[in-house]
Amino acid sequence: MNPQLNLLPKSAWKPDDRPLLITGPCSAETPAQFRATLEQLAPLRPDAVRAGIWKPRTRPNNFEGVGKEALSWAVELAAEQDLPLMVEVASGKHVDEALQAGVKMLWIGARTTVNPFMVQEIADAVQGTSVPMLVKNPVNPDLELWIGAIERLNKAGITQLGAIHRGFSGYEKSIFRNHPNWEIPIEMKRLLPELLLICDPSHISGNSLLVPDLAQIAIDLDFDGLMIETHFDPQNAWSDAKQQITPQELKALMAGLIYRREQTDDVVFNAKLEELRSQIDEVDARLIEILRERLLLASEVGRVKNQNDITILQPRRWSEIFNSRLEKAAQSEIDSHFMTRLLHLLHQESINTQVKMFKEARDTVKKDA
Ligand code: PEP
Ligand code: MN
Repeated sequence: MNPQLNLLPKSAWKPDDRPLLITGPCSAETPAQFRATLEQLAPLRPDAVRAGIWKPRTRPNNFEGVGKEALSWAVELAAEQDLPLMVEVASGKHVDEALQAGVKMLWIGARTTVNPFMVQEIADAVQGTSVPMLVKNPVNPDLELWIGAIERLNKAGITQLGAIHRGFSGYEKSIFRNHPNWEIPIEMKRLLPELLLICDPSHISGNSLLVPDLAQIAIDLDFDGLMIETHFDPQNAWSDAKQQITPQELKALMAGLIYRREQTDDVVFNAKLEELRSQIDEVDARLIEILRERLLLASEVGRVKNQNDITILQPRRWSEIFNSRLEKAAQSEIDSHFMTRLLHLLHQESINTQVKMFKEARDTVKKDA
């Protein structure tokens, strides 16, 4: 079922076509650090500044944020630059303290979005206010949970709402701190086109060097804006030192972004695109035919395995298929990560077909007995 939200238009967040920019340090560390960072950010006129007051850290004994005491000076320093301050809240108490101190906007972090109890507590705390809020994706790749958190806030009367894509935890090694799984925010956009959707390349990458490329990808995927961590002295930051960039680097990043249009009236280009797309349509039709053929063969294999009491999973055969196909794909310059995922999908579908077939055969025997 498509989620129904009652939202203010995106223009409530951003007055023009420019992507929304929210930037500032991972954590508000000291008044001097926040002031130095803000002074350098102010000429860029971001739409809001961010600062973590309470920090959800993976392991104990790390800096867990200055806490409540930082609110008064952070609010004051942001106001000096005439920039709205946005902070992360993870409980009803955080909401009360932040709003009382004069914080203008709130966001919910990835570790909180996973927990409907906490999200509901936050929703109850913001009820009756009109504070603009953003919701980061949950750490696990679960679009329903992400949408659920947004719905809870919307039901509490928050209509200036948006989502932040910050990537998803994974067990495998990756160049990213959090895997982007772009298909998930793309699906969010399809389901909720009216919802503001911004990207946080800092937490996806975990690496300041990767931030500009990820920001460009987000713009190319038509995200509405960016949340980027900046620090006047990233190397000495008290949290997320590896991924923060300086305000000067942010300036270069923003100036280097290429903005593209979704459509054009150029007849030659449109004709070329049309031709390429019809070729893709044909290839897809062939692909579906080939998939059907493969699935029919897998069923036939299932039928003979069942007749001969042979297990569905054949580890040696699977390993042989996996290695040989990966090698062949590599020769054709097909990305190994993509091929690995595709092979797992194909294999799982064959297994599903055979499991279903074995069960039907068992049920028939039972019925006949
Ligand atoms: C943060 O924004 O500093 C933060 C803690 O992010 P996330 O919730 O994405 O981990
Ligand atoms: Mn951070």
